Amino acid sequence: MLKKTGTGDFSNPIKIRAHHLLCIQGFQGYGYSREFEENMWQIIDNLNATDLSYVKITSECDDICYKCPHNQDNTCNESSLSKSHVVDMDRIVLEKIRVDEGFIGKSSVIFEKVNSIFNNIKNLQEVCSKCFWHSKCIYYQKIMNLTSPPYQINYK
Ligand code: SF4
Repeated sequence: MLKKTGTGDFSNPIKIRAHHLLCIQGFQGYGYSREFEENMWQIIDNLNATDLSYVKITSECDDICYKCPHNQDNTCNESSLSKSHVVDMDRIVLEKIRVDEGFIGKSSVIFEKVNSIFNNIKNLQEVCSKCFWHSKCIYYQKIMNLTSPPYQINYK
């Protein structure tokens, strides 16, 4: 397991795998376990807490996976397909936002970039089509026009 989550300081950025840049924004409190959910809220709080919210982009298990019951030895074992499927989702997001793995940047800049690209059904579906959290994901619901505002995501 990872040792601890990042705080968001530049020297200790929050480590986020690329496809989780979408999941974070769709999160409404549903997850794989209570620990997972609490950790996700903590990460969201850290992202919102300060202008010093730095994020390191990865395609490996991240600070969210840290508390996920499907994380086995830093590998996603959510399903038999998840190893390749999850990495594929990360790769597509990295390619589309044109960011290299390991990039460290301010969360506000990264999320702005993500949201400027994943603002249409085609791009979203390339990443999210096989995800089974559609009914719980506010990001997916919004882009697919399955729900109406308010849509309240405010990452500094
Ligand atoms: S299901 Fe896999 S990618 Fe998602 S949080 Fe758990 S370990 Fe990470």
